[in-house]
Amino acid sequence: MDAGGPVGDLSMDSKRTMNNDATSRRVAEKTAVVVGAGGNIGSHLVPHLGRMAELHRVILIDPDVYEAKNVRSQDITPSAVGKRKVCIQARTLRRINPRLHVETVQKEIQDVPLGRLEADVILACLDSREARRDVNQKAFRLGSPWIDAGVEPGGLLARVNVYKPAPDAPCLECAWHDEDYALLEQRYACGGKASSPAPTNAPSSIGALAASLQAIECQKLLTGQFERLAVGQQILIDASHHKHYVTKLVRNGHCRFDHETWCILRHEVPSPDITVGEALGLLGNPVPEEGSPALWVEGQAFVVAVACALCGWRRRVLRLQRRLRELRCAKCGGRMVPIGFEMVERLATMSERIQHRTLRSLGLRAGDVFSIGTPLGRVRHYEIDCDT
Ligand SMILES: [Zn+2]
Ligand SMILES: [Zn+2]
Repeated sequence: MDAGGPVGDLSMDSKRTMNNDATSRRVAEKTAVVVGAGGNIGSHLVPHLGRMAELHRVILIDPDVYEAKNVRSQDITPSAVGKRKVCIQARTLRRINPRLHVETVQKEIQDVPLGRLEADVILACLDSREARRDVNQKAFRLGSPWIDAGVEPGGLLARVNVYKPAPDAPCLECAWHDEDYALLEQRYACGGKASSPAPTNAPSSIGALAASLQAIECQKLLTGQFERLAVGQQILIDASHHKHYVTKLVRNGHCRFDHETWCILRHEVPSPDITVGEALGLLGNPVPEEGSPALWVEGQAFVVAVACALCGWRRRVLRLQRRLRELRCAKCGGRMVPIGFEMVERLATMSERIQHRTLRSLGLRAGDVFSIGTPLGRVRHYEIDCDT
């Protein structure tokens, strides 16, 4: 099976620094993103990445801090307890390969700007359905292959799924049924942000098995062994019964996800402090003669009002839902929380109020991708490309 060439090489070259002997090596210089880098699978995967000669840059994403109970199931020592997972894993990587460029992001995947995930491969080591869905969507938007690893500790099952974005290729959600979506909605129903998933308590060995399967497919991808790569397949090892299954994943014509890969334009701005009006101006009238364009950020709504959790006092705001700062009530000092039904998906950019708002004040920052669409349905996607 031809998995095609690595995606995103050209755009990433501009980010790379050249040095004297870089020219011959650049062909092999690749970036990997690890989502859930510090957990039961991720902590076992990271050392493998440090030993892959093809990798030049690794971005580690994990919001958590190590707890004492993690020592039993993850590849860490007691000295890691109380420390950030991404920092511990970055140190491991640098010890194994001091030449590797290692970046850390201590955030949930839903909070990471899309542009920061641009990579030759995205490796997901997650135990949350919501987070997996987010990785799936973002990988397709970027056109990045992604490898999902998972375990089912009770049955001693370890598996990996390999996805390569294309309109006719299977995605994570292709295998989802109504019940899977119902489980997502139940979680969101108990209060906006998804509650953290129950710990899997998987044995260290089963996490290590899944991580090894993931590392093997990752290495094939990075070295161009596409005919051996399990693209569009699931590899599962049932360690209880010593069985090994390879299943072809199927593109579901009724999949709820649109499978679109975006052409994302780099939008160089001096800083996120420019206004929406100025940003649109810099784009050189991106959507002429088609009425008022709308601006949105996929996967996040804008909160338009918050209310005090204690006394109910309300005030207007306008900010991306997941970038809302801690606000206190002016009347009683209580915590201000978003009002669920007072959110909007899209902003009308021609409105005077919106035109004068800075991108930063709306919660946008470097690496975020915003979309501009017209009433006639034309859509363009821009990444905020600035240093601050
Ligand atoms: Zn799908
Ligand atoms: Zn109050």
